[in-house]
Amino acid sequence: MTENLNPFAIAQAQLDMAAGILQLDPDMHAFLRQPMREFHFSIPVRMDDGHVQTFRAFRVQYNDARGPAKGGIRFHPDETIDTVRALAAWMTWKTAVSDVPLGGGKGGVVCNPRNMSAGELERLSRGYMRAVARFIGPERDVPAPDVGTTPQIMAWMLDEYEVINGHHEPGVITGKPLMLGGSAGRTPATAMGGMVTIREAAKLLGMTLNGATAAIQGYGNVGSYAHRLAHDLFGLKVVAVSDEFGAIYNANGLDPAAVGNQMRRTGKVSGLPDSEEIGNAQLLELPVDILIPAAIENQLTGANADRIQAKIVAELANGPTTPEADQIFRQKGIYTIPDFLCNAGGVSVSYFEMVQNTYGYYWTDEVVQERLDQKMTTAFHAVHNMAEAQGVETRMAAYLVAVNRVAEAVRARGWV
Ligand code: GLU
Repeated sequence: MTENLNPFAIAQAQLDMAAGILQLDPDMHAFLRQPMREFHFSIPVRMDDGHVQTFRAFRVQYNDARGPAKGGIRFHPDETIDTVRALAAWMTWKTAVSDVPLGGGKGGVVCNPRNMSAGELERLSRGYMRAVARFIGPERDVPAPDVGTTPQIMAWMLDEYEVINGHHEPGVITGKPLMLGGSAGRTPATAMGGMVTIREAAKLLGMTLNGATAAIQGYGNVGSYAHRLAHDLFGLKVVAVSDEFGAIYNANGLDPAAVGNQMRRTGKVSGLPDSEEIGNAQLLELPVDILIPAAIENQLTGANADRIQAKIVAELANGPTTPEADQIFRQKGIYTIPDFLCNAGGVSVSYFEMVQNTYGYYWTDEVVQERLDQKMTTAFHAVHNMAEAQGVETRMAAYLVAVNRVAEAVRARGWV
């Protein structure tokens, strides 16, 4: 049977498994299986050549029992409503496992930002905000960056929202540039949070990180910071990195500054002197200690899971591993740090950003780092303790922690 790779079907199947273990009340289970609200838009954008292109766009507010919906906006050519639903569900579990007082949401626009000019991107970003503005707000739903979106895009969206509403409201969106009310440490936060979980996992497994090897798939905001931080904080030898065009390998480790320069100069990692070109598929199957998927969903599947050799898979991407791959990893004894735990650093600092916006009083980078470390360490051990107590693997343990917390809020509100 071929594997079902629909991300929302996967997200629901994962929840179903958790509901079974928790013996969740069937009414609660049925409620948590679906998004509470979703919006579909058509956004007309005047392109540079004068014609108007219509973009399809979505915002899903999956669950807001624990607080305003929270989650990024993706600009991606393969975006679908089911991808956004899945990502919004995972945000719900992510904010719950990291215990920030927020719900889960996600947005997406079907577009290829690589082929758009800055002007076209600005008009699309403002158009998206005009469409969504009446449904969001600091106390309703707070977007942020994700794949294909940047602090500059957040700045245009914030400005559009403030123009529509006629007053400053920095807490409507996070991941903003610092001068518009962004938080210190937000840009590297997803990668940084992931490093905290890798540190804690290595302690549990008795792995020495200094000199251990790693491969990173994806070289966007998350993958590039993961490379730098793994190298600088732990002395990890990152032997391979990739982007959507290809992968490079050097057995002695790749220097993050050199790869960063290559990326800035050419827009690709490949072509770096002293590195060997390999395929993206090959990168995933390298005999490394730590594999870090930091791109998009469905990269580790039934088709390649039995060839994965890493001891730890640290999921900085959302949804990189399918349930079939999970099962194979379990048999192989691979330790997974599941996505909505591993990459919760981004939303944790987004929450800090919202708090700072509310107070209009801003923290130093040291304060942000200390609180991020604390949040991630606590979340990691909550999941680890649940895994031990229930005898389940880490992803299921993360689900048990998160679903319990969301269900408790839903019940307390009297919804179910
Ligand atoms: N897009 C990021 C994620 O998937 C961050 C979300 C946020 O900061 O709201 O976790």
